[in-house]
Amino acid sequence: MTDFELKTDADGVATITWNVADKSMNVMSLAGFALLDSLIDTALADTAVKGIIITSAKKDFAGGMDLNVIAKMREDGGAKGIFDGVMNMHAILRKIERAGMDPKTLKGGKPIVAALPGTALGIGLEIPLSCHRIIAADNPKAKIGLPEIMVGIFPGAGGTTRLVRKMGAMMAAPFLLEGKLSDPKSAKAAGLIDEVVAPDELLARAKEWVLGAKDADLVKPWDAKGYKMPGGAPYHPAGFMTFVGASAMVHAKTMGVYPAAKALLSAVYEGALVPFDTALKIEARWFTSVLMNPSSSAMIRSLFINKEALEKGAVRPAQPDQTVKKLGIIGAGMMGAGIAYVSANAGIEVVLIDAKQEAADHGKSYSEAILDKGISRKKVTEQKKAEVLGRITATTDYAALAGCDLIVEAVFEDMEIKAEVTRKVEAVVGPDCIFATNTSTLPITDLAKASARPDQFIGIHFFSPVDKMLLVEIIRGKATGDRAVAKALDFVRQIRKTPIVVNDARFFYANRCIIPYINEGIRMLAEGVEPVLIENAAKLVGMPLGPLQLVDETSIDLGVKIAKATRLAMGDAYPDGAVDTVLFAMADQGRLGKKAGAGFYSYDEKGKRLGLWDGLEAAYPVAGTQPELTEVQHRLLMAQVLEAVRALEDGVLMDIREGDVGAILGWGFAPWSGGPLSWLDMIGAARAVEICDRLTAEFGDRFKAPTLLRDMAAKGDGFYSRFAPKKQAA
Ligand code: NAD
Repeated sequence: MTDFELKTDADGVATITWNVADKSMNVMSLAGFALLDSLIDTALADTAVKGIIITSAKKDFAGGMDLNVIAKMREDGGAKGIFDGVMNMHAILRKIERAGMDPKTLKGGKPIVAALPGTALGIGLEIPLSCHRIIAADNPKAKIGLPEIMVGIFPGAGGTTRLVRKMGAMMAAPFLLEGKLSDPKSAKAAGLIDEVVAPDELLARAKEWVLGAKDADLVKPWDAKGYKMPGGAPYHPAGFMTFVGASAMVHAKTMGVYPAAKALLSAVYEGALVPFDTALKIEARWFTSVLMNPSSSAMIRSLFINKEALEKGAVRPAQPDQTVKKLGIIGAGMMGAGIAYVSANAGIEVVLIDAKQEAADHGKSYSEAILDKGISRKKVTEQKKAEVLGRITATTDYAALAGCDLIVEAVFEDMEIKAEVTRKVEAVVGPDCIFATNTSTLPITDLAKASARPDQFIGIHFFSPVDKMLLVEIIRGKATGDRAVAKALDFVRQIRKTPIVVNDARFFYANRCIIPYINEGIRMLAEGVEPVLIENAAKLVGMPLGPLQLVDETSIDLGVKIAKATRLAMGDAYPDGAVDTVLFAMADQGRLGKKAGAGFYSYDEKGKRLGLWDGLEAAYPVAGTQPELTEVQHRLLMAQVLEAVRALEDGVLMDIREGDVGAILGWGFAPWSGGPLSWLDMIGAARAVEICDRLTAEFGDRFKAPTLLRDMAAKGDGFYSRFAPKKQAA
């Protein structure tokens, strides 16, 4: 174990350097912690050592705790294992903080400084927070912060307690509750770190500080006599306002479904009422409670471990590198323009083609607008803008596609037009070029019939808006070959999005699950369920948008179009007549959703959503008896979740990890649950079948439990115990 190395120079300054072998970024393991502990002991005991610098040999300080370790801690030791492990970390960091000083006089400690060359996240900031000073290199690309809340936990190695005592609850809130990350200069301005220096002066300045530090420089405010929490503790008038406000804000944002946010607030509130060491113990108890909550482990599994595994090519066929060098995009509309931006921004040369030059230019101007916004926010330089725009050639000339190794077609959703484009493209590109379609509804296998090389034909389905949405769905047609899949995956990695690979079937995966959610909401409206109940039930179970708001956002005419096409394809088997009655009536009245300023909601002239449309009640009278909240929630969740199970059963989904990660990133499926399959594991297949049976009896066969689910219920199986790839750590 060589994660940390200790060297003492002739002036008595010991440097502990973090350098995890075979990793580009330092991450903390339990063994790493033990080594750091023993090196701190050595340096504190060595009379030749005057002070200590903790730094990194890599360009960054640390990416955080290895979350696999946290998952393992829970598995091995349960609540006690976690609590003891966390208290042990507290003891090590507290040792750094007290640095051998006399506990009564607070004198005689050795100064310890954290010198951060770059990014410092999670435990990578919690260790520095226990040091006596934090100095960072002026590296604008570095990110400093505590992002734990984003994966369903909170800073549990003293970060929560220290940051609140350092800045006050109000100032610490964005860093703890939103996981806000800052560059070094902003981190200094916010009081997160103490000093920013030129990168080549980092270690010299750290040494200078160590050698000049006085006893008083080592005493943390909370260890000094008469400490008062900045902004006021909970029973101080100002503190009272903060804590009451924070509780309300957190609840408004999380709807009470994220255990980590609540636990964090509890740790902060309760910790603020007691001495520092007791506060650490309280933090450890809440942290343990969060780690024991199935929601946290499911979130860590999907949003961290499996998301990363998919990004690193967990499902990539073994093929030579397929990095995209020159990309052709046909259709410079909303999607084509977005795909051009993310690709050029990732350094790929782009040819953007539309039927008319104005349309092609308009598509390119979308990139310009995003880059200009970046410039006004000081996130993008003029030079970067020129470089990105310089990579995009907007033209009508198909000959410009010569030399492209990947084409993404994003023209109108029309079989004939797409077929013609496919033929025109294949006439000019080389024989190895892969052709991808961004269709959202047309079967890839059918579209591939227009191609002379169906093994090189694939679906790459982006979500709108392309620059914001993190998921890309890759669809294998019947004839699609492995190289096309590898190409699509390598492309998605280049543009830094998360891929899932699914087989070809109606609506692929994401739309297959989200459409029934919208439809169930509309069905309930037609049945006389209070629209407010429908919308709030969805949000209270962690959906980002209620079904009525969602269809307003995606547009009601798109819903009508999809309904008509589906009815045509399915004939008598079409199940959604009741939904169409509502959708078509809305469309007939011109209430097409947000873009029209009128839909299930009303909007002001600027497009701001005001509230549910007051004509809804007349059109869909509210029934005298209303369903229970949980019944509405079960209907809304099961509508999506059963579709995910069927997709797995049908072989559309090939890997359950993709089913969960795709659901959260693709359509915002209740992230606290870890995804639809994780949610089913959480409640258990037997309970899920029970809910399905009840809903089927009352509302019809769309809730019938799939055979797979029944079988799992009978055998007491879970999705992850039955289907998780063997190598998976969590
Ligand atoms: P859009 O109408 O905004 O853009 C289509 C563009 O294609 C237009 O600029 C049009 O001029 C151009 N075009 C049409 N025929 C052409 C031809 N023969 N040659 C060159 N250019 C041609 O549509 P969009 O929303 O960008 O959708 C494009 C595709 O992406 C569709 O297949 C759609 O189903 C799919 N998609 C859309 C969304 C979405 O949310 N809008 C999401 C995922 C996928």
